[in-house]
Amino acid sequence: MTLDDIAKGIREKEYKRIVVIAGAGISTPSGIPDFRSPGSGLYDNLQKYNLPYAEAIFAINYFHHNPKPFFALAKELYPGNYRPCLTHYFIRLLHDKGQLLRMYTQNIDGLERMAGIPEKKLVEAHGTFATATCTLCRRKYQGEDLHNDIMEGTVPHCSYCKGIIKPDIVFFGEELPQQFFLYLTDFPVADLLIVMGTSLEVEPFASLSGAVRSSVSRLLINRELVGPFAWGSSRQSDVAELGDVVSGVRKLADALGWMPELEALMADDRQKHSKIFSTCPSLLRSWGQSAGSAMIRRPLEHRRLRALFKGPSVAARRYRGLNIRPSNK
Ligand SMILES: [Zn+2]
Repeated sequence: MTLDDIAKGIREKEYKRIVVIAGAGISTPSGIPDFRSPGSGLYDNLQKYNLPYAEAIFAINYFHHNPKPFFALAKELYPGNYRPCLTHYFIRLLHDKGQLLRMYTQNIDGLERMAGIPEKKLVEAHGTFATATCTLCRRKYQGEDLHNDIMEGTVPHCSYCKGIIKPDIVFFGEELPQQFFLYLTDFPVADLLIVMGTSLEVEPFASLSGAVRSSVSRLLINRELVGPFAWGSSRQSDVAELGDVVSGVRKLADALGWMPELEALMADDRQKHSKIFSTCPSLLRSWGQSAGSAMIRRPLEHRRLRALFKGPSVAARRYRGLNIRPSNK
């Protein structure tokens, strides 16, 4: 198998139920800072808060102790500061062509929604800023309700009970969103898996790449080999397009003959975006509409996921202590 074979399969609609798994690498070209790494600009900005360790920003206990660093990050990531890149629009185009079954993203920047990928096609595995919940009374809020507070650097409080309102980002020690468990029905029927811009190191995300049927082609567009592509458990039908993610996506789009459509889509969105900005400084309205998502019932326990793949990587084991994972309730 080659990238051209994959392109041919997409073009001729041989692949109609494509699942995409994506991580931070698809958003770095949009300028999203790598806030998890010491030495990155944003992480350094957070140093003034004296975080005991980098991940504390996503630790729920630390949040209850001091929510300010998290809200400083929220201010940075709130929509408007960054725009989707070619990769996001490529996935949107897959959807427009009726071939996207689902996109599983680890990113919390909301760029998938901004690129026009509908919420029902998205599993934001680490949560979203589009909705929020009071940490005390559990009342639900829309992301836009918090906008002014966050932009002013104020911690938002519930208008009913005065509890702190936390955006629905999944913290360490919290359960994954219900939508994540769509994988139980998505992966067995997927006919192509595209993995992009992720190290596949954090469980349970890492396991998903092994959850498609063994005959299904898997395309990796990434800086380096990761997950099963690196563990030596790759399959004959696997294809790896290594290097810069945007260049890899562009190569695929070129092979598909989709570049003119992609560029038109991006130009159109840019125009809309500038209009929204001139009439409505809060982009949240177009971005935070998220009611009525298709939830599935509480899934089988986490063991089920573990059974779906062959052995976590060393890195995955190393991360287990920090894992975001569903509880076995
Ligand atoms: Zn409340």
